[in-house]
Amino acid sequence: MGKLDGRVVLITGAARGQGEREARLFAGEGARVVLADVLDAQGEALAKELTAGEGRAVYVHLDVGREEDWAAAVTSAKNAFGKIDGLVNNAGILRFNELTSTPLAEFQQIVQVNQVGAFLGIKTVAPEIAAAGGGTIVNTASYTGVTGMAYVGAYTATKHAIVGLTRVAALELAAKGIRVNAVCPGAIDTAMSNPAQLDPEADTEAAAQALDELYRKLVPLGRVGRPEEVAALALFLSCEDSSYITGQPFVIDGGWLAGVSVL
Ligand code: NAD
Repeated sequence: MGKLDGRVVLITGAARGQGEREARLFAGEGARVVLADVLDAQGEALAKELTAGEGRAVYVHLDVGREEDWAAAVTSAKNAFGKIDGLVNNAGILRFNELTSTPLAEFQQIVQVNQVGAFLGIKTVAPEIAAAGGGTIVNTASYTGVTGMAYVGAYTATKHAIVGLTRVAALELAAKGIRVNAVCPGAIDTAMSNPAQLDPEADTEAAAQALDELYRKLVPLGRVGRPEEVAALALFLSCEDSSYITGQPFVIDGGWLAGVSVL
């Protein structure tokens, strides 16, 4: 028995990183997964791989900031699997800039993907989950959804917004049998925090070592997080193990937010 047997879960940003790990884990737990991303080749390949194994998966092209893409993705998902009863709003982008140097277009682009994307996901998919008799939504906020971080102001603003959206959605959707929670990862070893993973010229060994050194000092548990650790939290929040939990942000950061140390 898988923890998600009989469920159909749409995961955004599923072509790589945390979304990919979530897709693999959820499929392994019996869910039929709808992989959504703008990286079509990677998303298609993952869907093919999961379907060749035990799982069942389809890929849909979905730019989360475009309402028409959401409508098309829901149609594809229902054509493939008949319903949707789970959503993981995982897609996101990060840009580094001082607030006073951030171009308006950059700020708005981050809002469009991270914040509008999560809003459109809830707006479009929650009625489908309700029609399926209830289910779950997991939003991907961040450590920066509950504290500040210099030079990522636009990103931080959107991640705070996602925590707010999560609380309101939980209040409004509880009566429809939908639980809504947020994961708030600290530093996780994906292309977002380790862009060397995407650069064929990069010395990935050296980049990984630099990252290890940085987080050994910054994070109480002494290391960067792994995408599969966030996937495990998303699974917990998507299955019956969390049946009495809704409206909450869950920090997964190796203790980074616990406080400061004077030694
Ligand atoms: P990643 O960059 O590897 O993955 C992000 C995925 O989102 C990619 O597959 C990308 O193609 C997709 N995406 C980007 N824009 C999109 C759009 N408009 N529509 C659909 N898909 C889009 O990074 P990741 O670490 O796997 O990020 C996943 C989530 O975790 C993001 O929301 C990110 O903000 C959040 N997060 C990451 C970290 C970290 O340290 N990596 C920490 C906290 C929160």
